Amino acid sequence: MSSLLIIEDDELLRDGLCAQLVQAGHSVMAAADGEAAQTLLETQRFDGVVLDLGLPRISGMDLLRWVRKRLPALPVLILTARDGIDDRVQGLNAGADDYLTKPFDMAELQARLGAMLRRARLPAFGGSLELANSHGERPLRVDAHVPQAWLGDEALELTQREWALLSLLVTHAGRVVSREDVLETWQSEPGEPGALASNALEVYIHRLRRKLVDSGLNIRNVRGLGYMLETHAA
Ligand code: CA
Repeated sequence: MSSLLIIEDDELLRDGLCAQLVQAGHSVMAAADGEAAQTLLETQRFDGVVLDLGLPRISGMDLLRWVRKRLPALPVLILTARDGIDDRVQGLNAGADDYLTKPFDMAELQARLGAMLRRARLPAFGGSLELANSHGERPLRVDAHVPQAWLGDEALELTQREWALLSLLVTHAGRVVSREDVLETWQSEPGEPGALASNALEVYIHRLRRKLVDSGLNIRNVRGLGYMLETHAA
């Protein structure tokens, strides 16, 4: 579950978005204008924002710039009018992570939001998370803010890619993470080259398994689908 903020002045669309995203299992708050949005952004923690650029008083673009200054890591998906190609380009230049053109399909919005939140890494928790299985091995603890992972009291040495992979698996523990999800996350890593042979992923999975061996946690290969961090030994 992610915590989302919807900023949209069209009441019908706002209510529709909220209802759909709540149904999809997210925790959702909404603002009808930029000032209300600023108040919420200053007092609440969100994993992602859906921002309509056509807002009264404070424009969506100004709000986007404000967000980028205050909360540089907060993922923002902008909604623009069909003919607003300039808006779209300006929005991306101003730091939006993705955009959708109105009218849009709700399934597409959900898919884009999901991808955006995955790219942002560790969307589901803002602090630290501990995973342990029932066999008394050393628990794995990850802290998104440091960022650092530990096995028991021992800090794990991870490369940037290993950390991104581990974060993704931990965030989705008990669920399958697809190869595409991992490659997408890696590509969004600053300073990492984009293209990567997909068999490199096996190499990283193998390394991570070795580093996690004392945790009792297992990274299972789900044939044809991807990988899953199992929190209970099979
Ligand atoms: Ca609007």
